[in-house]
Amino acid sequence: MCNSRMKRCIVVALLLGLAACQTVLDPYGRPIEAPLQMPSGDVAGGGGTFSLITTQQEIELGRQLAAEVEYQHHVDTDPQLQAYVNGIGQWLVANVTRRDIPYSFVVIDNPGSINSFSLPGGRTYVYTGLMKLASNEAELAAVMAHEIAHLVLRHHAATIARQYGFEMLTGIILGQNPDEKARLVADLVGAGVQARFSKDQERTADELGIQILASPGYNPEAMLSIFQKIGAAGQTTTNIPIFSSHPTTQERLQRFQVLLQTFPPNIRADSPIYMERYQEQVLNKL
Ligand SMILES: [Zn+2]
Repeated sequence: MCNSRMKRCIVVALLLGLAACQTVLDPYGRPIEAPLQMPSGDVAGGGGTFSLITTQQEIELGRQLAAEVEYQHHVDTDPQLQAYVNGIGQWLVANVTRRDIPYSFVVIDNPGSINSFSLPGGRTYVYTGLMKLASNEAELAAVMAHEIAHLVLRHHAATIARQYGFEMLTGIILGQNPDEKARLVADLVGAGVQARFSKDQERTADELGIQILASPGYNPEAMLSIFQKIGAAGQTTTNIPIFSSHPTTQERLQRFQVLLQTFPPNIRADSPIYMERYQEQVLNKL
């Protein structure tokens, strides 16, 4: 046990280019074995916010948008379900390098919508329609890991500013323009903004997202399987905003196949997906 953990620690360290490992426990008492680094190269992901708005402004922007999202949409009232999803999210973010925003994860009760999106400042929403589509915890975590990657790479504010203009961005931060805020949130939920994440931003979010998924021990294969399911659902239903925001193109699925090759075969074969726990905590309730 100790040896295999150490071996995995070394493997993760090599994968992430780290010199040392440390063991941290997640909210469930499960070990997290290495702090997660951003991919080398374009840290800002082709549109970072380092010079655009401060972290405090990003958090305030997210707070304003979250209030509007939760006014327009129905937050699920099951505290156990909320705690379960938030626990998954906190486990995923426990070792990402971006520590200056408060990460939170909220379930929206809408079984007809296959959707998930994150807001600037750290909040990620998961729709019950997406939770029903996933067949294990790792698949849900995979979508959440992708959304977290956009946050770590600071994609949101730059994308909103590019699409709507910097003045609208600062207006919302200052609490002005409630109509524009409502319009922006409607676009966010319907993937208007996310649809315009650039191809390069999506590529870097895919690359970091699969690392975020695997770093606390989830099977990285779940990233491929959930996006295959989202793609298949796109053939038969139209209410899948995440599909328009994250098009399941052949190119993306091929990219996941390539990224999976970077993981040792035993990680891909043996890492858990937590199917039974997901059945009990989620699927039996929805
Ligand atoms: Zn994305």
